[in-house]
Amino acid sequence: MWATMGLAACLLGASRRPLDPVHVPVATAAAASATRGLDDAACPEGTVPDGDVCVHLSAEVDGPLAPAVPNAHRERSGRWNAYEQIPRLPDRPAAYEAYRYPVPKVAGTNPVASGYDLDRPDEAQRRGRRLTHVGHGGVDLPQPRGTPVRLVALEHQLADAEVLYAGPLFGTTVVTRHVLKEGGRDLEYVVLFGHLSSIAPGVAPGRTLKDGDLVGEVGDTGSAGFPHLHLEIRRAREGVDLGRVHAGARLVAEDVSVVMDPRNVLPLD
Ligand SMILES: [Zn+2]
Repeated sequence: MWATMGLAACLLGASRRPLDPVHVPVATAAAASATRGLDDAACPEGTVPDGDVCVHLSAEVDGPLAPAVPNAHRERSGRWNAYEQIPRLPDRPAAYEAYRYPVPKVAGTNPVASGYDLDRPDEAQRRGRRLTHVGHGGVDLPQPRGTPVRLVALEHQLADAEVLYAGPLFGTTVVTRHVLKEGGRDLEYVVLFGHLSSIAPGVAPGRTLKDGDLVGEVGDTGSAGFPHLHLEIRRAREGVDLGRVHAGARLVAEDVSVVMDPRNVLPLD
C-alpha cells in the first residue's frame, strides 16, 4: 500500500487548537463547504466547523509557501485533523532532483514518486482507494527490491548519526537521530527509513552511522507490491530526550517530533 502508518500515529495524536489566520480565497472556502455539505455560517471566512471549533483550510496549492503554522486536513472518517508541520524554506530548491538521497538516482530524473504534501490544502493532499491515511509526511523513492539504503548526513550535521530504533513502524523501519547546527543552535532531527526488506547487520539502537553506511535494503514491507523507500524527516521538540524514547511509534508522536519537508535538510547533490 502507499499508506503512511507512521504518519497516522502522529496525526491521530494531534491536538485541536485555535489556529493563526491563514488567507484562503473566498471561492475556495465556499466551494469546499458546498461540496462537503458543511454549515460554515458559524465560523469565520476561510474556516470550517468541526465539532465546537473552527479549523482552517490552508493556502493555495501553487500560491506562496504555507507559513509554519498548524495545518489541517480531513480524515477518511470525515473529521478534520489539525497538525503542525514545517514547510519547505523559500531558499531550498523545490525540485526533488536537486538533492542527494539514501538510494541511487538517475541523473536528470525525479527520484520521488510521491512528495511531501502536508503544506498543501486538504484537497491537494494524497489520498486514494488503497491509502489508509490522508496526506504524506515524507517522500517515496521507488527502487528495485534489495537496493542498498545508505545513510545520508544532513546539512549542517555536527556528528555521526545514531540509530534510535529498528523494527516495525512504516513496515520494517530504521530511525536515526541527527544533530544539526542551525542559527547558532543545536537542533535534533529524526530520519525514518521505511518499508525496508531487511535491516543491515549491526544496525540497532545506540549504533552510530556515518554518511554512506548501510542502513538496510529497499522493500515493500507495509506497502505490499510497491517496493520503495519512505524517507521522512522530523524535528525533535525542544526538551525531548530522544535517547529515552524507546518505542518506535513514540518517535513520530506529536509531542516528541514535528514532521518537516525533507528538502530543508537533505544535502544538495
Ligand atoms: Zn511514503
